[in-house]
Amino acid sequence: MSEESLLDNALVRLDAAAAHLNIDPDVIEKLKFPRETTKVRLMIRMDDGSRKSFLAWRCRYDDTRGPTKGGIRFHPEADVDEVETLAFWMTFKCAVMNLPYGGGKGAVQVDPRTLSKAELERLSRAYMQAFARIIGPDRDIPAPDVYTNSMIMGWMADEYAQIVGRAEPAVITGKPIALGGSLGRGDATARGGFYLVRHLAEDLGLSKSMRVAVQGFGNAGQHIARLLVGDGHKVVAVSDSSGAVYSKEGLHVDVLLEAKANGKPVSSTAGQGGHELIDAKDLVGVDCDLLVPAALENMIHSKNAKTVKAKLVLELANGPVTPEADALLAESGVVVLPDILANAGGVTVSYFEWVQNRQGYYWTEEEIHDRLRTITEREGRAIWNVSREKDVTMRTAAYVHALGRLAEAIEAHGTQSFFTS
Ligand code: NAD
Repeated sequence: MSEESLLDNALVRLDAAAAHLNIDPDVIEKLKFPRETTKVRLMIRMDDGSRKSFLAWRCRYDDTRGPTKGGIRFHPEADVDEVETLAFWMTFKCAVMNLPYGGGKGAVQVDPRTLSKAELERLSRAYMQAFARIIGPDRDIPAPDVYTNSMIMGWMADEYAQIVGRAEPAVITGKPIALGGSLGRGDATARGGFYLVRHLAEDLGLSKSMRVAVQGFGNAGQHIARLLVGDGHKVVAVSDSSGAVYSKEGLHVDVLLEAKANGKPVSSTAGQGGHELIDAKDLVGVDCDLLVPAALENMIHSKNAKTVKAKLVLELANGPVTPEADALLAESGVVVLPDILANAGGVTVSYFEWVQNRQGYYWTEEEIHDRLRTITEREGRAIWNVSREKDVTMRTAAYVHALGRLAEAIEAHGTQSFFTS
C-alpha cells in the first residue's frame, strides 16, 4: 500500500488528467486544496448518564459548480485526510455527471455498532447542531455514506428544521420516503453501476452470463449482487468485514440478503447451498469476469493487484484501487470503471431528491430509473469516447471529462472570486 496520504494519491489522478488538457495552472492550484474543513468535538449524553465526545468533520472541498454535496460517514477510523479525499472525489463525481454541485464530505470518528439507537440519534442530532451554520440547501447538502442510513438522515433533517424553524427537506438527501426521500434512492449507487456495465457491455466484450465477485456486502454490494443476478449473471464470491463465501456454481444471493437482513455476516451462510468459507483477503483474486469492490478505500493495492483475474473492475466503493494498483491492472489489460463514474448513481438520485424537494412534486420510481439511466449512459459514453480518442484508461478519461467542466466553471467565475467565493 502507498505511504502517501489518501489525498496525495487522489491528486495523482488530477495531474494525470491535466496532462491531457490545455488548462490554466490556476485551475489546478484551486483544485489541489480543500476550500474549508471544519473540525468539532461532539459531546453527547450516553444512556448510562455519562458524557462521551467524538471527533467530527465537515469538508466543503470546492463549490465552483454549485452547493457542495457529499455523504456523512460514521466510522471508527475516519480521519481528516479521508474526509478531504472523499470530498475531492465528490467534486469530480458531480462534475462527471454534470450535476450542479461542488464536492463535500463529513464524518464522525465512531463505531456506530457500539451505540444504542437513542445514543445514535443524539449523536446524529449533535452533528447537525454543530454544522448547521455550514449546511443548507444552497450551501452544503449531506447524504448517507458508510454506516449511516436514511433513518440517520431523517433525524438530521428534523434537527435542521428545528434549528431554522421551518421544514427544509432539501437540506439533506437519502431521507426516508415519508420525510421527502426519493423513490429509487436505496439502490441508486448499485443501479448506476449496473446501467453503466450494461451500456458498455458490447464495447467491453462482456458475456451475457458473467461470474461476479463482490467485496463488501452493505448497501452498494447487496444491491449490485441482486441486480446482476436478476440480469442472468452469477455471483460466485462475496465478503464483508467478518469473512467471505464462495461457490463456483453461484451463491444464493437471496440467502445472503436474508442473513444480512437478520444482522448476520455473509460467513454465517457457509454450508448452505454449496457456500464455502474463503479468506476475505482472497476475494480480490477469485476466478471471475467482473470484480466489484464495494467496501472501503485501498482494498486493491500493489501487493494483490496482480492476483486479479477479472477482466473488468466496477468501483462501487470510493477509492478502492491505489494508483500503483491502477498501473498494474492496466498492464494486465484489466479495465477499471472508476468510482467517480461507476458509483455516481447515488449522488445522481440524491440530486433528483433535492430537485423534487425544491419543486414539491415527486416522480415515480420508473421516472427516476429512466433519468438515472439516461445520465449514466450519456456520461459513460462520453468518457468511453475520451478514453478511445486519447488512448487512456477510463479513470483518466473520467478525470479529463470532469476537469474540463470544472476548469470552464472556475475560469467563468473570474479571478476576483477565485479564492474568496
Ligand atoms: P455500507 O456500510 O452499507 O457497507 C459497507 C460494507 O463493507 C459492509 O458490508 C462491511 O462489512 C464491508 N466491509 C468493511 N470492511 C471490509 C473489508 N475489509 N473487507 C470486506 N468487506 C468489508 O456502505 P455502502 O453505503 O455500501 O458503501 C460502500 C462503499 O461504497 C463506500 O466506499 C462508499 O463510500 C461507497 N459509496 C456508497 C454510496 C451509497 O449511496 N451507499 C454512494 C457512493 C459510494
